[in-house]
Amino acid sequence: MENINSIYSDNTMKKLADLRREFHRCPETGWLEFETTVKIISYLKSFGYEVIYGKKIHSERMGLPDESTMREHREQLKLEADFDLSEILEGYTGAVAILDTRRDGPTIAMRFDIDGNEIDEAKAENHLPNKENFASLNKNMMHACGHDGHIAIGISVARKIAERKEQLRGRFIFIFQPAEEGVKGAKSIVGTGILKEVDYFLSGHIGFGAEEGEIVCGAVGFLATSKLDIYFDGKPAHAGASPESGRNALLAAASCALNLHTLPQFGGGMSRLNVGVLKAGDARNIVPHKAEMQIETRGENEEINALLLTRVQDVVEGSAKSFGVKYKIVPVGDAPSYDKLDRDFVERLAKNLKIEGYKVTIGKAFGASEDVTYLMNEVEKNGGKSVYFMFGAKLAAPHHHNRFDFDENVLKAAYDVYMQSIDALIKFSFSIDMNRHKTL
Ligand SMILES: [Zn+2]
Ligand SMILES: [Zn+2]
Repeated sequence: MENINSIYSDNTMKKLADLRREFHRCPETGWLEFETTVKIISYLKSFGYEVIYGKKIHSERMGLPDESTMREHREQLKLEADFDLSEILEGYTGAVAILDTRRDGPTIAMRFDIDGNEIDEAKAENHLPNKENFASLNKNMMHACGHDGHIAIGISVARKIAERKEQLRGRFIFIFQPAEEGVKGAKSIVGTGILKEVDYFLSGHIGFGAEEGEIVCGAVGFLATSKLDIYFDGKPAHAGASPESGRNALLAAASCALNLHTLPQFGGGMSRLNVGVLKAGDARNIVPHKAEMQIETRGENEEINALLLTRVQDVVEGSAKSFGVKYKIVPVGDAPSYDKLDRDFVERLAKNLKIEGYKVTIGKAFGASEDVTYLMNEVEKNGGKSVYFMFGAKLAAPHHHNRFDFDENVLKAAYDVYMQSIDALIKFSFSIDMNRHKTL
């Protein structure tokens, strides 16, 4: 098999950076990745991939924006393509590309998340995207987590795999997943059964828990999480003349917020709860009859998060009852935990990367939530193996900050890690039982 060094050039670096900048300019938040999806599909088709998109790659979508938000974003774009856009423009975003070499070998799936954050990008002079003219053109949308880099890496790996098709074995599945922020998108993709026959699964993130120059191979410590919208519905009244006839949703929500924050206390592992948004009331002289909260829970494992959720339900119900208001809890996102380390497998991959001169760490904690855990758990449930990388990079500001930016050299390292690992996995696959999936 061709050695990676011979296919690796400065031209690759330039293509990676150009792609990253192209996508950085048009960030789109969860389920609104219309332009992003169209661009990704166009690239993949041009490399000769069979591309699946729209309703075919989705089951149950959580936390969709309302119809007017979708319409507004749709109307400001002028998208043209030689394929059907209708389902994409209804929020069935993302794409899956498949390449079958028709030679015996493993099925290798890779996942790249594609959404941006609800942040207005800084127009500061020393912010590189601003300085070099590739800052976000979309109001209140920004690639502030590095997913623009993930898209660039995914497209570049897909391009190289297509070019090397004749020298490779097995099957490749590229998943460009929407709506990772708020952990909404992965469950919808997994529900289609697309990962049923996957032998190896690779994914990763720029920055996060990895230090500059470090490659984490086999990240662990992903927290289980649930995202909930909570609504309180009371009764308005004149605050001077007849306050007693009102039912105060603001007080129910305020009391609820305080009580919710007393909940994360579990002996069996860490837990987190955050009330991130609380909006209530209409005017100074009216008993407030509506309140809305956005909260999230996290747990070191599913049991803790599930227990935390039942307590949340009790506190919301109790708060509503205390103030005589109605309530509604709407789940808008969730992801399971992941804390397994297949040491033998991960060490083999890491050893391969060390030969290439990377500073590799095994089994470092991610320390947050990522809905890739749905995909990793699914692959492993079906007998496959998965690995999550963290690609250390110099960051201009923390993730989700309006001045977030990363040193683009990390793109080359991440691309290289994927390509090296693919080569290694094809070699490994001949030492495992390749007849596991007869339908290959
Ligand atoms: Zn993020
Ligand atoms: Zn991210």
